[in-house]
Amino acid sequence: MAIATINPATGELVKTFEPLKDAEIAAKLDVAQKAFEEYRKTSFELRSRWMLSCADILDKEKVKFAELMTLEMGKPLKAAIAEAEKCAAVCRYYAENAENFLADVPVKTDASQSFVKYQPLGVILAVMPWNFPFWQVFRFVAPALMAGNVGLLKHASNVPQCALAIEEIVQRAGFPTGVFQTLLIGAAKVADLIADDRVKAATLTGSEPAGASLAAAAGKQIKKTLLELGGSDPFIVLASADLEAAAVTATTARMLNSGQSCIAAKRFIVVEAIADKFEQLLLEKFEALKVGDPMHPDTDLGPLATPDLLKELDQQVQTCVKEGAKVLTGGYPLSDRPGNFYPPTIITKIPPGSSAEQEEFFGPVALLFRVPDIDVAIKVANSTPFGLGASAWTNNEQERDRLISEIEAGAVFINGMVKSDPRLPFGGIKRSGYGRELSIQGIQEFVNVKTVWVK
Ligand code: NDP
Repeated sequence: MAIATINPATGELVKTFEPLKDAEIAAKLDVAQKAFEEYRKTSFELRSRWMLSCADILDKEKVKFAELMTLEMGKPLKAAIAEAEKCAAVCRYYAENAENFLADVPVKTDASQSFVKYQPLGVILAVMPWNFPFWQVFRFVAPALMAGNVGLLKHASNVPQCALAIEEIVQRAGFPTGVFQTLLIGAAKVADLIADDRVKAATLTGSEPAGASLAAAAGKQIKKTLLELGGSDPFIVLASADLEAAAVTATTARMLNSGQSCIAAKRFIVVEAIADKFEQLLLEKFEALKVGDPMHPDTDLGPLATPDLLKELDQQVQTCVKEGAKVLTGGYPLSDRPGNFYPPTIITKIPPGSSAEQEEFFGPVALLFRVPDIDVAIKVANSTPFGLGASAWTNNEQERDRLISEIEAGAVFINGMVKSDPRLPFGGIKRSGYGRELSIQGIQEFVNVKTVWVK
């Protein structure tokens, strides 16, 4: 894939970039390693000051950064502004908490003194996707740099200007040269990077094939990885739920980022008793959404990020229909305009065994499943290869407790939308990946947990 900015709302090729040559990659690795040797000795106080400065830049220039995100991957501008603000928040969170999270932990043993010490690993490679082009990167940068590691970013090839802007923010914030660098390279270069002795670990957010490929390359080198992959998150609605609130949140949860979010609600599992009512509410809300120019402040839904994503989503929907499912609204790409636009879509009557039960739909398509009761709801929720986040709606305490303990996912949200929050760990199980980002768990992923024992 060429490294280029292509406006997904118009199809216009805005700017292309030459990928780095091997010698340039090697030089950047050298710079990163040298930077680590000094940077690891810096105090938390100094790192915090630089991280807070990142937050200030993000806040002050959020509209500029948001316009770049919208230009490159098409998310509505208001969502892009919120993304820049959230990046500032994660920088502040780790600036304030990292020292505490990584403080020595005394442990009583037969030693005169024994404790656990957390130390940085070195150069960490981050392979990141385009869907949250700033947030995915900052939720890596903030904990990694606060822990004393240095970062190399291989961003998705369709968001090069976002990748360069992030490098510039970190530099302008005052971090020493080489502590965070963007590498404009294709995916084919990732395995070589992982094989390099100077790279100590890697994190990837993206598709299953990309995650499997990175983890295989790292496995050969005995290097740690963290994977945050896809999901087909369930959104369960039981009879006692507040249906209006559930339908409002269901719409937001499915349409977030024009449907291109790993934690978007994708399968709506609704008990028969309230299914007709919920379906009607969802339909009204989907049809009220404004699809259009993502730069316009009123737009709810922009284009998908690339023509390939549009094609894949269209194929998934057509396959589902061929298998016997029914389209309630939407169902075809919008052919009356340029760009990669797909309308809000609801699919019902999905026959058992359909591919839609197992696949991730990465766009504004809601899959509706009717179930007789909570037992089947939980069974259907758990019946995919994924396990990222689940949202479940009930006002019954016993049902709530069952949902919390029986759903197979990295997160369960009751009567609310699955979302990431710097204070809470984030990540999946099964084919959604492993490891955790954010919170104390996130900063402890890429450190040497050193046991110290003194006689
Ligand atoms: P990819 O997984 O292909 O891209 C994500 C990142 O991984 C990009 O930086 C990409 O680089 C890189 N990459 C791709 N292949 C490899 C590889 N073999 N080894 C190392 N790095 C690699 O996502 P796509 O953009 O192609 O989207 C496809 C699907 O992935 C979506 O439909 C969705 O299901 C899922 N996805 C999930 C995301 C999530 O948040 N969990 C985010 C994005 C996608 P390059 O751009 O140069 O190819």
